[in-house]
Amino acid sequence: MSTITAKKWTCDQCGVTVSRLGGEKVELPESWATSGDGTFCLLCRRERAAQAALDAAPDGNLEARAKLRRAALVEFEIRRRPGHGNGEIAKACRSSVAAVVAARKRLKIPAPN
Ligand SMILES: [Zn+2]
Repeated sequence: MSTITAKKWTCDQCGVTVSRLGGEKVELPESWATSGDGTFCLLCRRERAAQAALDAAPDGNLEARAKLRRAALVEFEIRRRPGHGNGEIAKACRSSVAAVVAARKRLKIPAPN
């Protein structure tokens, strides 16, 4: 994989920046993503994943939307780090192992051994 470097990375959503003191180039942080849509930090990537799920189902009530949002965050985290254990992913999303197991089933991404 090629490494992308820049003098400074700025999240297009929240404006947080990553740079070095001396001004030398830095790699895109591992948790960030950059594409045609823009460059986003991990927090905003999570937020966008959750928002995309909500946009896809605009009608649900508050409770249903909260549930959808949590599920989207878990799915995002599984896709991002499929090799991480269910416990770790649950912790990262402040969710439960059962929710991670269910999401892995939906995504057809099995847990690591
Ligand atoms: Zn951000």
